[in-house]
Amino acid sequence: MSKEHLLIIGPPGSGKGTQAVRVASELGIVHLSTGDILREAVKNGTELGAKARGYMEKGALVPDELMLGLIGDELDRLGDSGWILDGFPRTMPQAEALDGMLDERRERIDRVILVDLDFEVIVKRITSRRVCPVCGAVYNLETLKPKVDGKCDKCGADLVIRPDDREETVRHRLDVYKEQTEPVIDFYRKKGNLVAVNGEGKIEEITAEIIRALK
Ligand SMILES: [Zn+2]
Repeated sequence: MSKEHLLIIGPPGSGKGTQAVRVASELGIVHLSTGDILREAVKNGTELGAKARGYMEKGALVPDELMLGLIGDELDRLGDSGWILDGFPRTMPQAEALDGMLDERRERIDRVILVDLDFEVIVKRITSRRVCPVCGAVYNLETLKPKVDGKCDKCGADLVIRPDDREETVRHRLDVYKEQTEPVIDFYRKKGNLVAVNGEGKIEEITAEIIRALK
């Protein structure tokens, strides 16, 4: 089991990133987040990292082919360790390109974990977030209320909603997920290696459910 190659997919706000870290640690495999891979490659100034930096500095998306190359470099570095990939693929062309790359390496995705969550629950979860612009503390009107309405417990500043947490923004990201990423889920479901868990509930319980489902 420790050499398993896993993918984790889920809508924004489902908590899949948190679960990816926890599952990696439970199984003793490497957490491969595309965000971390990009930051590391840019920091280390690798050939592909320098290319990626060019796009990022312009505020442009890193092309699929380049991202795939960066993931390939990372897999070379990992040798025969198990891993869980988080953040890629998000679109069908990416899923097909990843399959092609893994085929060439004579590797494959063993299982795909879907952390699923009702979109209305996600909207409520994210739009309930409030942050302190002064000290950075994060609150949630549903689960972690400040002691005084609208004020930071730590420094007393007025709490704000981050632009990313506004309902319109959240709904747009969910639309993009539905249109581009849900077909990827069907693609893996048809291959028969999809494991779906409900992302509602306590963080530890969801991790335990994923581990159970993988066994
Ligand atoms: Zn504060």
